[in-house]
Amino acid sequence: MDKKIIIAIDGFSSTGKSTFAKLIAKGLNYIYLDSGAMYRALTYYAMSAGFIGGKGEIKKEELQSSIEVGKLNIWFDLNDKGESQTIMNGVSVEQMIRKSKVSSLVSKIAELDFVRNFVDKKLRAIGENKGVVIDGRDIGTAVFPNAEIKIFMTATEEVRARRRYEELRSKGENDSYESVLEGIRKRDEIDQNREIHPLKKADDALELDNSSMTITEEIEWLNAILKPNFNLEIKF
Ligand code: C5P
Repeated sequence: MDKKIIIAIDGFSSTGKSTFAKLIAKGLNYIYLDSGAMYRALTYYAMSAGFIGGKGEIKKEELQSSIEVGKLNIWFDLNDKGESQTIMNGVSVEQMIRKSKVSSLVSKIAELDFVRNFVDKKLRAIGENKGVVIDGRDIGTAVFPNAEIKIFMTATEEVRARRRYEELRSKGENDSYESVLEGIRKRDEIDQNREIHPLKKADDALELDNSSMTITEEIEWLNAILKPNFNLEIKF
């Protein structure tokens, strides 16, 4: 059997990382890990437990001790349609963590060192046997710096905002295009400028600008790298 590898996919918000990563995982029969979902679930937990005040201020000590005493368990499962679901303390939070409120707070939670340690530990535990596709912001630079394949995804701001806007509308959320664009800009800025593990392209990552690519073209692009180098082919 061919050797299993780690595929790390990083990049800006709404570049289509998770769509791409899920298809790769399915086509290679690998596990898909959504690191952003972990930060979102932690944010949702902090909101629900009252650790985020009315002005967005975070009660760090309370959040940290609550996590450290093991009150929080996050993992992934498949629903009956075979789609990845984020589970928090036994309950699916998949829909809640995608809401705009969580999106607007998540980057502030993801800046905290104890939050990043919590997520990194979980990702490394699941990924240590390889055969995983992981998407996020710091996977190729910090979580799995030895990943065999690193991809850094980009697309123009307008394309990204349009995708996110359509996605929210399809879920019945009515945010305006302008507010979605503003939210994406803010999140990317915090993610790029935080002290710990900021969003940046790893030196050895392959850049993929998918502003005008179809998902089929993206898979073909990756297959052209996987086949000769790893004898792997994404079937889709
Ligand atoms: O990928 P997604 O947009 O769901 O990620 C939500 C947020 O989680 C990001 O904007 C970022 O603040 C944080 N994140 C991170 N590191 C990762 C993945 C996500 O800081 N590896």
